[in-house]
Amino acid sequence: MSAAPELDRRVFLARTGRYLALTLATSGGSFAQSDSSRDPFTLGVASGDPEPDGVVLWTRLAPDPLQGGGMPPHNVEVEWKVATDQRMASVVVRGRETATPGLAHSVHVEVRGLKPGRWYWYQFKAGSHLSPIGRTRTAPDPRRPLGSFRFAFASCQNYEAGFYTAYRHMADEDLDLVVHLGDYIYDSPTRTTAVRKHDGPKATTLSAYRNRYALYHMDPDLKRVHATFPWVVTWDDHEVENDYANDASENNTPRQAFLEQRAGAYQAYYEHMPVRRASMPKGSSALLYRRIAFSNLVEFSVLDGRQYRSDQPCGGLVVSDCAAAALSSQTMLGPEQERWFLDGLAKSTAKWNIVANQVMMMQLDSKVGPEVGLNMDKWDGYQDARARILKFIEQRRVSNPIVITGDIHSNWVGDLKLDWTNTKAPIIATEFIGTSISSAGDGTEITDRIRAYLPDNPHVHFYNGQRGYVRCEVTPDRWQADYRVVPYVSRPGAEIATLASFVVESGQPGAQKG
Ligand code: FE
Ligand code: CA
Repeated sequence: MSAAPELDRRVFLARTGRYLALTLATSGGSFAQSDSSRDPFTLGVASGDPEPDGVVLWTRLAPDPLQGGGMPPHNVEVEWKVATDQRMASVVVRGRETATPGLAHSVHVEVRGLKPGRWYWYQFKAGSHLSPIGRTRTAPDPRRPLGSFRFAFASCQNYEAGFYTAYRHMADEDLDLVVHLGDYIYDSPTRTTAVRKHDGPKATTLSAYRNRYALYHMDPDLKRVHATFPWVVTWDDHEVENDYANDASENNTPRQAFLEQRAGAYQAYYEHMPVRRASMPKGSSALLYRRIAFSNLVEFSVLDGRQYRSDQPCGGLVVSDCAAAALSSQTMLGPEQERWFLDGLAKSTAKWNIVANQVMMMQLDSKVGPEVGLNMDKWDGYQDARARILKFIEQRRVSNPIVITGDIHSNWVGDLKLDWTNTKAPIIATEFIGTSISSAGDGTEITDRIRAYLPDNPHVHFYNGQRGYVRCEVTPDRWQADYRVVPYVSRPGAEIATLASFVVESGQPGAQKG
């Protein structure tokens, strides 16, 4: 992907600068009038939530990204156009959008009228400034069979913990889509030991969350992946605060104050992600769960496992014998989302039903020996809800259910079952957990502690504790997941390699070594 030719743009600006005020007086836009010298497109461009006839285009005007954006406190008109070529010569749709100070001068364009299953290029203009050119792809025609679909999924990109080398490599992949499973930002304060530093103290306010997203979006590797593929995103906890559950802060912030914090966090998330207007927050709530289909080959159920969940039982850490974790009242998705999710699975005509999920769904016993130690922040703290879902999948014979997960900064492959102790119990679905992009730093292949408890988890087929992402190729007959891993993130420049590949044959749940 090449950005708009920087030199041409500068020459153009120098030549036309003296006419700017005149142009703006007639165009109604007034951004360049107040400050024409600073580039407002410091955060790049992005696209997301593709449909057969359109996609969401995103940018945010922020000439001073780490100090609140630096925009004047009034509306600014932004022009956009979509072309069928990377030089933006054959424009097929164009329009205008108003960037408002209330939404941090972010822009969400819901483009319509495009053709299914093809690449497009897009660009924004504010005042005399042109954005970089982004590339995106519409979803394929739902009435025509699709032979293959390629995507990568990622999560957990703590800026302080390392460089986004994995993203640098992801941008070179041949993909139709990128899926992000949460921890897009970390709310945490600057650490003195960090590889590179956060912009300030722990974020709890709208303005602090905005600056944090701006810092992340300025990373050149992340920018490049956003400008190269459409994304489908969901959040986990760190977009607000570590291990929060619905209205409960792990720091015991009073409920009302925490909901205000959550409102700011959700708003900043919306402002910085290529999601549809349907996901715009209303107060401290936002609708993020949704379904996205790619012909009848693949359907994603994109879950929100934070906003509606019950509090983690038994203190939330790794515990043994937590009876509350098995109560039917423990909910991960909330009753409404759970109904929507199961309803969608029942109605789905997709060959592969992919669940974009936040935290580990398979059981993980991390106590060596007969004692069973489970982490209450994961689905292990919501056992009846998990069993309800798996039973439903089994009874309704949901076609090829695959769960993709982030959160734990390590790679795992495992079988999802209703009975974890009986190795002969049927496999109902397959879970692929992807490691972090940078969180937890360089990492190691495996530690002695993890090696020791793996035999207590016979449904687990693979573990790795390094950084990277998972690349998937789906065809009507077969799912393949390639675990792409970089050896270090504490300095730039690592090469990437496929550490392991796993295959699921259609109609046969459970991962096989590829
Ligand atoms: Fe994380
Ligand atoms: Ca054990």
